[in-house]
Amino acid sequence: MNLKTYNIISQFIMQVFIYTCMMNYSFSLKAQILPLPHSYSIFSDTLKIGKAISISGKIPNNYIKEILEQEIFKGLQFVQTSSSGNLSFHDDKQLPMDGYQIQIDKQKITIKSSSLNGYIYAIQSLRQIVIYSSPTDRKFQCLTIKDAPRCKYRSFMLDSGRQYQKTETIKKYIDLMSILKMNYFHWHLTEGTGWRIEIKQYPKLTTIGSHVAHGKEQQGFYSQEEIKDLIIYAKERGITIIPEIDIPGHSEAALASYPSLGCYPDTVVIPENGFTDQLFCAGNDSTLCFLKNVFKEVCNLFPSPYIHIGGDEAPKGRWDTCPRCQNRIKVLGLKNSHELQLWLMTQIAEYLKAQGKYAICWEDIIHHDITTALPDNLIIHWWNWRGYKDLGFTQARALGLPIICGTNYYTYLNFPEKPWKGYQQDRTCTLYDVYYKNQSLSKLDDHQTLGMSCCLWTDYGLTENMLEDRLFPRIFVLANQMWNSQTISLNDFLILIQAKNNFFSSLGYEVNSTYQVR
Ligand code: ZN
Repeated sequence: MNLKTYNIISQFIMQVFIYTCMMNYSFSLKAQILPLPHSYSIFSDTLKIGKAISISGKIPNNYIKEILEQEIFKGLQFVQTSSSGNLSFHDDKQLPMDGYQIQIDKQKITIKSSSLNGYIYAIQSLRQIVIYSSPTDRKFQCLTIKDAPRCKYRSFMLDSGRQYQKTETIKKYIDLMSILKMNYFHWHLTEGTGWRIEIKQYPKLTTIGSHVAHGKEQQGFYSQEEIKDLIIYAKERGITIIPEIDIPGHSEAALASYPSLGCYPDTVVIPENGFTDQLFCAGNDSTLCFLKNVFKEVCNLFPSPYIHIGGDEAPKGRWDTCPRCQNRIKVLGLKNSHELQLWLMTQIAEYLKAQGKYAICWEDIIHHDITTALPDNLIIHWWNWRGYKDLGFTQARALGLPIICGTNYYTYLNFPEKPWKGYQQDRTCTLYDVYYKNQSLSKLDDHQTLGMSCCLWTDYGLTENMLEDRLFPRIFVLANQMWNSQTISLNDFLILIQAKNNFFSSLGYEVNSTYQVR
């Protein structure tokens, strides 16, 4: 072998070696940001920041300032400069909605975004890649990240109706949602076993309705002051809170508070689990007036453009015999009690429209033939794959309605990994199921799809101390699916979530590392 050939071969071997190292390193960088960024390039250099961090330009909001001061650059002196700082923020309206870019070179970190949320997402990425080299030094690998959300609507739902959670717990999960780049917190506030939102016009909803169940953690409600505080807290973190007042079913707690709102006032029974046919009476004008008054306070309290009005699991046994409900059906020329529910939901949706809001309904309201025009502010929440496969989606699509995909197979975080209490084998869900069998995924890129949700229901006594066992690590998969359309193998994803273990543990989350893959 002559020298030239030797050099060519050795250069080739060296290039393969470097490329292999880059590939490995490339994954290890990827593995440090969850959800995965859409695209990135990494370079060999490092940015070192010691003792002081100079910032040029305005820090976008207080939350970002807090993460910078109390976490990423904690212990360093903060210096504000007019130009050439180590860190700068730049508005760039050319970037996709809520997208961001991070560029790190040997001198500085440059963050660009078209919106406040984009800046928040950039910081959520940055805090995951900082290297704490010493108490007063920080290092960053030089890189470029270009990132933007796949879905416009990315939500987590917590059921505070069946079980009450402390406001500190709610804040902890709002923080988690922000880290995972979700933007809507769907807050399920009313159930048969508890009414959790203060409505000033109807005080018995909370003096009676928040204490109808017997469990220790099934007592209590959120005052409007507490809710206002949570709304502000969430907004700072890029999250809008969507309240759900579930009607006409799942309403036993409200009916126990004001029995005259039901069809048969003398017989309100609080279910231990599940739901009953005790519904708000759709034939009673006073009940309709009550509902509008409740939603008026809800609209005044929550700035969210969306209000969830439920509509699920409302058996019509009582409506089928109630003289007032039957009279309403007759007067309006409706076919049956299912059409009566659609009429009721339409009344509320139109009322919300007058308040400038969209109304989100569970898919149940469109399971039957629709012969009347629906309000144009209606959004369908598709959930019941287990019961009706994609009926809710296809019906909504045919009706031209926007759709949120949150199928129980498999975005339901309350499904345990193994049978537990009332959850039989067909209501279990492993990490593998979420990763490969999530039925919502096939519809995410449809033009009528708004985005994806994941729900954590708290039936069968899922108390606060059990929530994180249900959340982790499956919520990582779901958040990643909402954010990023690219797929990596489950094995690589397991490496990613393993790499994030310390990060989430350091923030006080009990990340379950003994999960069952299949
Ligand atoms: Zn009735």
